Amino acid sequence: MKIRNLDTRPITLEIKDIMEENPHTKTFVFEFPLSSEPGQFVMLWLPGSDEKPFSIAFDDGNEFWLTICKVGEATDKIFELEKGDKVGIRGPYGTSYEFEEGEKIALVSGGYGAAPMFNVAKRALEKGASPYFFIGARNEDLLLYRKRVKDLDIPLHLSTDDGSVGHKGYITEVLLKEMDEIQFDRIFACGPELMMKAVGKIAEENKVKCALSVEKYMKCGFGVCGQCTIDDSGECVCTKGPVMDWDYIKNLPEFGAYHRDAQGNKHYFR
Ligand SMILES: Cc1cc2nc3c(=O)[nH]c(=O)nc-3n(C[C@H](O)[C@H](O)[C@H](O)COP(=O)(O)OP(=O)(O)OC[C@H]3O[C@@H](n4cnc5c(N)ncnc54)[C@H](O)[C@@H]3O)c2cc1C
Repeated sequence: MKIRNLDTRPITLEIKDIMEENPHTKTFVFEFPLSSEPGQFVMLWLPGSDEKPFSIAFDDGNEFWLTICKVGEATDKIFELEKGDKVGIRGPYGTSYEFEEGEKIALVSGGYGAAPMFNVAKRALEKGASPYFFIGARNEDLLLYRKRVKDLDIPLHLSTDDGSVGHKGYITEVLLKEMDEIQFDRIFACGPELMMKAVGKIAEENKVKCALSVEKYMKCGFGVCGQCTIDDSGECVCTKGPVMDWDYIKNLPEFGAYHRDAQGNKHYFR
């Protein structure tokens, strides 16, 4: 897992297009040869507001996409942006998903995690691997990237908490059932931390290699400020991750237990 770029200066990019995914989620399109690897992220700076990390949802060497959920102050401001507005972009940063040609890869996602996993699926297909996509959400309206994944013509499994579409329950239950039929070479996951922890345990019990997109509160994005240092390793998630192997993550007491806010205060998962 390599770090691709340590450039610390933002470039100014115009928003080429905006696609509305659902009332709380938009995809922002930028025309720029980012040269990212699947799983990496960029820092998006909105002058006068804030700078925040977002995963790359698509990158064909010509344009790249960021799929952003409106959850607070900074993302509220990003949602006010229109086509033609300009933002600052730094990156790509962090580690990426690694796999080999011919491998069967389970891509498990929850929430906006479906967007970066779509990027992984596209790259996997280009490299001659076989991706199997799993998306879980609270209800049908929150299932992101369903149509785009369907258009890739790969196996797609859905779950919703309320049963409005797909399996009623957790996406990990669907993954386990599929594992009775298919011997995956790798399992990757991006989504809520507790879901990823469950995926990591399933992979370990079934002796399948596993990597996860770990998210911690990030400020600089390139390992200088120390904000996203993960207990007890002392490593910054922005450089050691965000993509990390389960074999490494499983020994970190912070993972799946709590996260820290901008001031470093702990918030325990319930
Ligand atoms: C590597 C990485 C990739 C990400 N990719 C995406 C993505 O593709 N799409 C997406 O919608 N969101 C993504 N996020 C989360 C996104 O950065 C936060 O949702 C966003 O910064 C919230 O800012 P806010 O001011 O609107 O909300 P706030 O009210 O400040 O926070 C809402 C939530 O977002 C978290 N958050 C806030 N600031 C940060 C930060 N600087 N770093 C990490 N978490 C933060 C808070 O802990 C809180 O849980 C990613 C985060 C990381 C670390």
